[in-house]
Amino acid sequence: MRSVMDHEYCRQLKQDGVLFDDPRTLAWAGRDWGRLVHRAPLVVLRPRTSGDVAAFARFAAEHSYPLTPRGQGHSSAGQAQAPGGFVVDMRALDSVGEVGADSVTVGAGARWSQVLAETLPRGLTPPVLTDYLELSVGGTLSAGGIGGATQHHGLQVDNVVSLEVVTPQGEVVTCSAERNADVFDDVRAGYGAYGIIVNATIKLVPAHTRARRLQLRYDDLSVFLADQRRLLAEGCFDYLEGQVELADDGVNQYVIEVASFYTDEPPPRAAAVLGELAYHRGSEEIEELTYFEFLNRLADAEAMLRAAGLWDQCHPWLNLFLPGSAAEPIVAGAVKDLVPADIGAAGFVLVYPFDTGKVTAPRLELPDEPVAFLFAVDRGSACADRAATRRMLAANELIHDHAKAAGSTTYLGAPVPAAQVT
Ligand SMILES: Cc1cc2nc3c(=O)[nH]c(=O)nc-3n(C[C@H](O)[C@H](O)[C@H](O)COP(=O)(O)OP(=O)(O)OC[C@H]3O[C@@H](n4cnc5c(N)ncnc54)[C@H](O)[C@@H]3O)c2cc1C
Repeated sequence: MRSVMDHEYCRQLKQDGVLFDDPRTLAWAGRDWGRLVHRAPLVVLRPRTSGDVAAFARFAAEHSYPLTPRGQGHSSAGQAQAPGGFVVDMRALDSVGEVGADSVTVGAGARWSQVLAETLPRGLTPPVLTDYLELSVGGTLSAGGIGGATQHHGLQVDNVVSLEVVTPQGEVVTCSAERNADVFDDVRAGYGAYGIIVNATIKLVPAHTRARRLQLRYDDLSVFLADQRRLLAEGCFDYLEGQVELADDGVNQYVIEVASFYTDEPPPRAAAVLGELAYHRGSEEIEELTYFEFLNRLADAEAMLRAAGLWDQCHPWLNLFLPGSAAEPIVAGAVKDLVPADIGAAGFVLVYPFDTGKVTAPRLELPDEPVAFLFAVDRGSACADRAATRRMLAANELIHDHAKAAGSTTYLGAPVPAAQVT
């Protein structure tokens, strides 16, 4: 059978240093953050221009090879892999254009930290950022991109002005809500299946310089969720998230994390509303940070996890959108018997609400209710301990199936089946 590298076109690309078929590159492209799914492609394209992407997409279409873009490879279930096909490594297409009054055009391979490095000195910021800034623009726009500002602005996919997309046929299309809207609607939260985003024009809003971050503790899930809903309805904080802190004795703590962004003084309503909440008085932690320090808060955690060898673990992650009406029983059932060892030293559990009415991207599947909760049970296991990894995956499957039956939707793809880890 004819191999890909028998094509003169591919041999030329390899000679030009943009196409790779060496075992090291293929193994790299067959791995991701999750370290659970390993499927190497036939070749990896490292384009220098969007024209390289378009020409290669035409070749792939003509010869019926699957073509999958890859940003930072922080997927947890093989989403950016292309077994029997081609991976397009988008990292070099990371230009950040001139920052305009309310938007900036960036290469899809740019990381959000690179975008901020250009916009913040001009007093501007994307309205919504993920908790971790080292994800690519193309990668989060293909997933959704949820964060603590989603309560006000929807997800990152809802804050895009226009996109330049290479279609699966290799056509270059500029799309927006007004122009080629079908392409715009397909690629946002489309996981790379409907085209490769090569450039994105992202909405920008004025950025404050400082952030006041508060963490408020609860020992009752019901009270915690009620206060989160209250904060969502009030909208008085710029950022709203929350975590479950698991305890060995089963007495979990629930922590609301909110932040106000400001330049002179934090808004008075944010302080006043605290008096109306039912958190444990005296448990609150208050931190004053620059706006960027707040956005980049996972950088220290990343350094610590890397030093401890926990960053490169296996990551049996489960991310769900729960319908507001069923959030409490689903979360209660999921965390009831969960102890820290069940999620691993680097694991965490996130719960926070948002207004589904702010979400406009049609491919993002959400519960059909005005309020939904992100519920993330993100575990970490030593990859060598296959049994522990399988146990975590099986536990995720149970939560997933129960939550789906109660009207939840899956975010970032279905969990990896435990049986797949042998
Ligand atoms: C530590 C960590 C923290 C995270 N925090 C958050 C968070 O707060 N909020 C949140 O929403 N998510 C979060 N995520 C998940 C993350 O947003 C997604 O996994 C995202 O897809 C990863 O981006 P990436 O650049 O690594 O994409 P990749 O893993 O490389 O690709 C992901 C998907 O996007 C597609 N894709 C990549 N580039 C393009 C492109 N240019 N055009 C079209 N499709 C493309 C791929 O084919 C694949 O389907 C987090 C992940 C990690 C590891």
